[in-house]
Formats: sequence, structure tokens, C-alpha cells
Amino acid sequence: NTVFLNGTFMPLEEARISPLDRGFLFGEGLYEVLPCYGNRMIAWQWHKERLTQGLQALDIKLQYDWQQLQDFCQQLTQYNPEPDQGIYIHITRGAEEKRFHGWHNNAEPTIFMMTFPIPTLTEPDFDQCKPLRLGLEQDLRWRNCHIKSTSLLGNVLHFQSAQQEGLNEVLLLGDDGTITEASTSNVFICKDNEVHTPPLSSALLPGITRRIIMDILDRHSALTLQESVITQDMLFTADEVWLTSSTKGVVPVVEVAGKTIADGKPGKHWLDTARLYFQHRFDY
Ligand code: PMP
Repeated sequence: NTVFLNGTFMPLEEARISPLDRGFLFGEGLYEVLPCYGNRMIAWQWHKERLTQGLQALDIKLQYDWQQLQDFCQQLTQYNPEPDQGIYIHITRGAEEKRFHGWHNNAEPTIFMMTFPIPTLTEPDFDQCKPLRLGLEQDLRWRNCHIKSTSLLGNVLHFQSAQQEGLNEVLLLGDDGTITEASTSNVFICKDNEVHTPPLSSALLPGITRRIIMDILDRHSALTLQESVITQDMLFTADEVWLTSSTKGVVPVVEVAGKTIADGKPGKHWLDTARLYFQHRFDY
């Protein structure tokens, strides 16, 4: 498995970083995951935009320009044989001389990238889809969830508690008791012919798949889409619930917190939307 570290492609076993790297010491970094199907990266521009916003928030200046970074990603996918890969990009502030909470703006950022196989996307169908069962928990993460930070302890603890219960994922409740997102995904619900997803705020990640699905529905579907606050009542009376992420695409949810959603089967709007994503993902 070939990875990229600070300008060099190398076997994973040879990749080394300093224990004084602020990513290691403080979790002070950003990451992106983007899908690449048959060597075509999906929505590079939007991932780049989100990363740019994160870099600004953390005041990290990259030593490469965006074209170089995109070329490195593309080269990395060619080193690895799988046809369909997730590209993982990890950028930290880098290593300083001493461990000290404040930073000095003199470290060279550490840039690490690797790929991992993702399932080949096939035309979605009811028999082949794997519907999800979710937990529901009060969100215990920090208050800047819009930043795609490598400090994922909150997400990890939420996700692990779901796994221990034999569930796939966990929906999170914000301070006002409404649903914000899941620990590794964004959420959509459908009621009648309306699709809702929570509006962007510092309580959730601006997911790229969320953005693609919103754009696809807007352009290619008769369903109406709204960014709406989603209460627990709306969730449990929804006709359909979906999760989205770069590695999953759009996936139907059939159970939350032990309660069945509608008839407990993936819905027709999910199928139509997943098919639209399958057809149009290369437009992004
Ligand atoms: N929310 C959280 C907390 C996530 O970690 C992710 C990505 N894993 C998402 C949403 C989905 O974002 P994207 O569609 O950009 O993968």
C-alpha cells in the first residue's frame, strides 16, 4: 500500500512523523475523505472548498497549491490497484520544538494521504441495499462541528457505543433536542413528497454528499427539498430516513432507537435518489 507523506510517495511501513507533531499531541489538524470511482474523484472542488475554510479557521498555510495537491491525490490512486478508492487527506500544523498549547506559525504542515478500497457502486436496488439501524444520543462533541477536525474523540465514542449495541450508526441531538447529524454522516428525512435536512450550523459538518444530494434533487427530481430543523417527532413520523457520506453515498435507515421508521423498509424516494446519485455523481 503506497501512501503520500510530505511530498513523497512511499510504502505505508516507511511513513514516519515526529511525536512532537501537533496533530499527534493536540489533534490539531484537518482531514478530508473523498470517493474516487475508476480514477475519477468526486466533487474535488467542494472538498477543496471545505478544506480551505478549515485551514483558514486554524490559520494553517499549505506549502502546495491546490493543483499540486489534486495531482498528488490522482497519482496516489494510480499507485494503488483498487478501481474504487476513498482518498484520505490529513493535514496537521506540523511539529514544533516543544509541546506548548499556543502555536508559533513556523512549523511546516504535515500532509499525509492514503487510500482505502470502497465498495463499487452499482445501480441501487431494494434487494441489494443494506438498510441501517441507528441509536440516538445527546451530542457530546465540541461546538465547532462544522470544522472537519482530526480531533474525533467525540465522534469515535458515539460511533463505538452504537457498534457495541450492534447498531450501524448513531444520530445526534443538539442542545435544543433536535437532530443535527450522525457521528459519521449527515441525515435526511422524507415526509409525503418533501425532503428535509438540518440547516448548516456549527452543530454539524457541511457534508459534501449532503451538498451533492441537495443539488441532484434540485436539478433532477420532483421532490421538494428544504433545510429544516428536524425534531424527534418529525423523525419518528417520517416516511423515510437516509444517511449520506462520501464512503456510503445515500443509505436508507429503517430503525432509530429501537423504533421502526414507517413500515421498516427502505422507501421509494430513497431508491430514486440513490439512482440519481449513481447516475450523476461524476457531474461533481
Ligand atoms: N458528518 C460527520 C460527523 C462526518 O464525519 C461525515 C463524514 N465522514 C459526514 C457528516 C459526511 O460528510 P461527507 O459527505 O463530506 O463525507
